[in-house]
Amino acid sequence: MDLRVRALETVLTQKGYIDPAALDAIIDTYQTRVGPRNGARVVARAWSDPAYREWLFTDATAAIASLGYQGRQGEHMVVVENTPERHNMVVCTLCSCYPWPVLGLPPTWYKSAPYRSRVVKDPRGVLAEFGVALPEAMEIRVWDSTAEVRYLVLPRRPEGSEGFDEDALARLVTRDSMIGTGLALRPGSGLS
Ligand code: FE
Repeated sequence: MDLRVRALETVLTQKGYIDPAALDAIIDTYQTRVGPRNGARVVARAWSDPAYREWLFTDATAAIASLGYQGRQGEHMVVVENTPERHNMVVCTLCSCYPWPVLGLPPTWYKSAPYRSRVVKDPRGVLAEFGVALPEAMEIRVWDSTAEVRYLVLPRRPEGSEGFDEDALARLVTRDSMIGTGLALRPGSGLS
């Protein structure tokens, strides 16, 4: 894959279609400045501020942009909330659509054919491989991203986080918890 990408970049550069410096700037932006910490701020705000949470459900794009996160691959955001009754997971069965402004670049597994095909057929099996076991009675809903709509999962606020400020809450929010392949960290779990 690396070789193919490099070959493609060389050809496109030679033909004058792309500027390698511009490409480097875009890659640097998404590797170092835009990533899941952005989404974690959105989740922490939603956990702290009921009005903001409601705004996320009525107009996620605007609510997220109000925190400064907007742009390519995030023009039409939808936030889906995990509850005691329902767990949400996000996939792009067709390719790799992903909400870049809040989560950065998609992980390799998100783009892989096995994840894309299996999560819709066997979400519990996929969750188990991520180390997540949910009660049998809990509904699992899988959302298929499109070229237009990108989803962000609002994970459940973990027990023991009462009284946490937004900074502390944001540290509990993992990338996978916002895709639905993980849960938010419990305070004191050693990872937060
Ligand atoms: Fe896609």
